[in-house]
Amino acid sequence: MSLSGCISAFGAMFWRLARCIILCISIVSVAAQAAWQSDTQNIMGTQVSVTAWHESDVNANEAIAAVMAEMRRIDQSLSPYIESSELSRVNRLAVAAPVKVSRELAFLVDKSLYYSGVSKGAFDITFGSVGRYYDYREGRQPSAAQREKLLAAIDYRHVQLDRKKRTLFFQHPHVYIDLGGIAKGYAVDRAADILLAAGVRHATVSAGGDSRVLGDKRGRPWLIGIKNPRQAPGETDTLIRMPLSDVAVSTSGDYERFFIDKDSGERVHHILNPATGTSAGDVVSVTILGERGVDTDPLSTTVFVLGVKAGLALVNRTAGFDCVIIDRFGKAHYSDGLIEPSVN
Ligand code: ADP
Ligand code: MG
Repeated sequence: MSLSGCISAFGAMFWRLARCIILCISIVSVAAQAAWQSDTQNIMGTQVSVTAWHESDVNANEAIAAVMAEMRRIDQSLSPYIESSELSRVNRLAVAAPVKVSRELAFLVDKSLYYSGVSKGAFDITFGSVGRYYDYREGRQPSAAQREKLLAAIDYRHVQLDRKKRTLFFQHPHVYIDLGGIAKGYAVDRAADILLAAGVRHATVSAGGDSRVLGDKRGRPWLIGIKNPRQAPGETDTLIRMPLSDVAVSTSGDYERFFIDKDSGERVHHILNPATGTSAGDVVSVTILGERGVDTDPLSTTVFVLGVKAGLALVNRTAGFDCVIIDRFGKAHYSDGLIEPSVN
């Protein structure tokens, strides 16, 4: 081999070696990049948090940004506080004539009507007919006269959903619907779908009291806590911790949005008994475990309104769900699926 041939063979070998070293370095750096990524933003009147693991943190951050964008879209479409939302449009028009609605809104109203049916109206999106006059931040509530006048509008049977034509029509002039008891559970399901499609296999998403957990925490279960609803000074803020994976968890509590009525000294909070148009009073918190947030969210509100006995009975006869109810005395009640069989 000539000298120049020798030099060029050496050169080729050098470059192959160099490429190999560069490849190894980039594999090492991708592995080093893999880490938990998270973000928290205020959307839908609550804190939305996402924590996700992906082999590449670029992909994890892109997926988290896509989740936040979807949360904002859902808020713009389903919020009763945004005048241009589809929900507000329906509330303005559906008392006069049937209104064509999106598949998404039809799906959520359909689900809501299902939970109204199984709970004989404990869950009822027409609660908003009275509920719209509460302002928990300002400590305002409807007058007794206003409540009396509007109470007849609270009845899910006023809501006519034509599933074929995909229209909504309200059969009472004062009906006003509010999806606050189901929208966040649905939103965390959408988040889970987006994360899964992006290749994320380990994540948690929460929107206020509604969470979805994907996979486990890479070898360990996620620890989901139930808040101590009446935390005395020096007491822990978490009452129960449950090791969980691949699950939806929704908690309804009377400590989330409330004020104390100046005259009666009673707690006025955001979960209403549709029969009275006033706050449901039997329990202080309900946590439901299931597969999807679009079910656990309405079910937690439903069981809260039903109270311990009827609430446990509903969960125990519904396959695929479990619950923990904290009553007014701080006692925890568990559905059958969470009670360990006694060993005799
Ligand atoms: P959060 O909104 O804090 O997650 P919940 O899941 O318990 O709490 O839902 C409470 C919300 O559900 C209220 O803010 C209100 O929008 C709506 N809501 C209240 N009472 C009822 C009811 N009886 N049926 C259906 N939705 C209700
Ligand atoms: Mg709920």
